[in-house]
Amino acid sequence: MDWRTKLLDPTPRSRRDYRSLATPVYRGSTVVFDNQESVQDGWQQEKHGYSYGLYGTPTSLELAARITHLEGAHNSFIVPGGQAAIALVYMAYCRAGSHALVPFSAYGPNKEMAEGILRNFGIEVEVYDPLIGAGISSLIRENTSLIWCESPGSVTMEVQDVPAIVLAAQERGVAVALDNTYAAGVMFDAFYHGVDVSIQALTKYIGGHSDLLLGSVSVRDESAFEMFGPVYRQLGLAVSPDECSLALRGLQTLPVRLGQLETSTLEVAYWLAENPHIATVYHPALPSCPGHAHWKRDFTGSASVFSFLLKDHCSTQQAQDFLNRLQIFKIGLSWGGVNSLAVVYPDLDRPGQDFGGRLVRLNIGLEAPSDLIADLEAALAGIPSAG
Ligand SMILES: *Cc1c(COP(=O)(O)O)cnc(C)c1O
Repeated sequence: MDWRTKLLDPTPRSRRDYRSLATPVYRGSTVVFDNQESVQDGWQQEKHGYSYGLYGTPTSLELAARITHLEGAHNSFIVPGGQAAIALVYMAYCRAGSHALVPFSAYGPNKEMAEGILRNFGIEVEVYDPLIGAGISSLIRENTSLIWCESPGSVTMEVQDVPAIVLAAQERGVAVALDNTYAAGVMFDAFYHGVDVSIQALTKYIGGHSDLLLGSVSVRDESAFEMFGPVYRQLGLAVSPDECSLALRGLQTLPVRLGQLETSTLEVAYWLAENPHIATVYHPALPSCPGHAHWKRDFTGSASVFSFLLKDHCSTQQAQDFLNRLQIFKIGLSWGGVNSLAVVYPDLDRPGQDFGGRLVRLNIGLEAPSDLIADLEAALAGIPSAG
């Protein structure tokens, strides 16, 4: 054999029985078949064998299987990010002429997709009050094909009455999809509460270190799985095995991280609630959060992200100056990692509510809470007092 041919021979030459505790990182687009008769290119690789890297590698399918097991789902798809997960759900349930309901507290880019790409494709999108509960019944039409829930909502943190919405949807045969990112798929039991699809931005708590982007879409039953599969295949939602490997590692430390983040975050939230510059703290575990009773009833814990509203003696500019004075908190989007973050969303679209650029969203990290409080205290002290 010519040395050039030797270089390209894919046959393994070392032992294959290495039993590491870590999931191997399998790279590959092409999959080699035993013979022409066994060539197939189906997306259902778990069932029919591997066909092509686009539909998953042993690394990404291992991550999918672990998310399925964790969430008590029937099956899961791993996709390039939380936003891709949202797109997959829309593409699976909606077609021209469909009607979709989205809470106004939904993740911004979700609403942007609904009111952008989807409307352009002839899908009717209606934004609803996240606290509507059983009242969602009156918004369901003949052509309603999907109701989104996100609980708590992004930035304004409204905790939804998901069981009431599910009940109303089931009476009319409408699917309910939940963005369960806040609960990391574990602090709110989506399938126990009856949703059809639960998605997560794995980017947040499963990754946990602000160094990867991935999403998951978990489905309740075989019929949903069969419906999603071809859409997933056609959209070509490839993921990197390296990202999946990091997410698999993240899963192992999820309980310790969530436990510490909950304690630290509550300490900071309670402290902020007493500060004279602060009007309201929007943290699901505090009674001041809209829908707090739903959190108490349905969740087993709280996470690291919450918001607070500065009193109206503080101008928009002063709110920004406050953020810029923070030293330990970094200014940035996203959450669920080990660093504390702060950000103001100046253009929040919440019907009937104007936060005047004074709503600050925090992500608490793994720094010592006493240092985080000292950082907030020093930055808040720079805001001039009322009158
Ligand atoms: C971040 C986030 C997403 C999007 O996740 P990416 O991985 O950044 O695409 C979706 N939903 C919620 C609630 C999020 O916070």
